[in-house]
Amino acid sequence: MAKNWRELKELQPEVMTMLENSMKKGRVAHAYLLEGERGTGKKEISLAFAKRLFCESPLNGTEPCDICSNCRRINHGNHPDVHVIEPDGLSIKKEQIQHLQEEFNKKGVESKKKIYMLLHADKMTVQAANSLLKFLEEPHEGTIALLITEQQQRILPTILSRCQIITFKPLSPEHLKKRLEEHSVDSQTASIISHLTHNFEEALEISSDEWFAQAQKIVLKLYEVLWHHSLKALLYLQEEWFSHFKEKEQLDRGLDLLLLIYKDLLYIQLDKPDLVVFQYKIQDFEKNALRLSQRKIAEKMEAILETKRRLMSNTNPQLAMEQLVMNLQEGSSFV
Ligand SMILES: [Zn+2]
Repeated sequence: MAKNWRELKELQPEVMTMLENSMKKGRVAHAYLLEGERGTGKKEISLAFAKRLFCESPLNGTEPCDICSNCRRINHGNHPDVHVIEPDGLSIKKEQIQHLQEEFNKKGVESKKKIYMLLHADKMTVQAANSLLKFLEEPHEGTIALLITEQQQRILPTILSRCQIITFKPLSPEHLKKRLEEHSVDSQTASIISHLTHNFEEALEISSDEWFAQAQKIVLKLYEVLWHHSLKALLYLQEEWFSHFKEKEQLDRGLDLLLLIYKDLLYIQLDKPDLVVFQYKIQDFEKNALRLSQRKIAEKMEAILETKRRLMSNTNPQLAMEQLVMNLQEGSSFV
């Protein structure tokens, strides 16, 4: 379901404030380029913006009402003065832009305003981009262009220079988690992944990755070995860990997961159990957290971060991991 204005403001507060102000001050630009990663709300916010500009009775003077005939037609994608252009096959073609221009040479069908949105604007062919450029150079009054892209670097500089650029921030973990759940990722997995990346695309990929599912188990097992059979931790590295975390990137991801576990311990210590990522392990973690001081936990987190840095500077991974395990062993076990 489409998000309402308030939800969009939570999603992209700065973008929404900027758009609101431009409307309040009557300074809506002729052309905007909305750029940012997939899943950050670019298209949804463009449509909400269009609704707001056409809405017959905005709520509180700022929000589109969502029930007037203009709002409803935009929701249904059949407002005569709101045009959405998407790549036809692999690219946006010159004919598509020309067709748009012909439409715009007619007067606004119902009002003087016209809005067009180009989704994946980076996919314009060179000819299409040149056509658009002419269009942007001589803007019709009341015409607003919304160019949307995940790849700003692929847009011609001449086009960029004619647009007001609006950057969409990567999603916060909470929003990323919600988005993943909307894509049928279970809540526990979504919660873990949303702390490993900001990128929706990557998050979605990780969520269906067998390697990652297995990695999670191995990391949790290492943690448990460290607590309960501390002396076997080095052996565990040899027997289970290295065969799964072979590449540097894999190892780095494994360490990120391990870091999340220690962060969870810290949240428990700080009495913030709802921030715990591995919720299904919370009872075990609670027992462990009681036995460590906050300072100790912070030291262990620092040791993990240090190992990540060492790996990036090409330290031998085996050596780095062994040292880490020895650092983590200390003070963790009953001995
Ligand atoms: Zn309305």
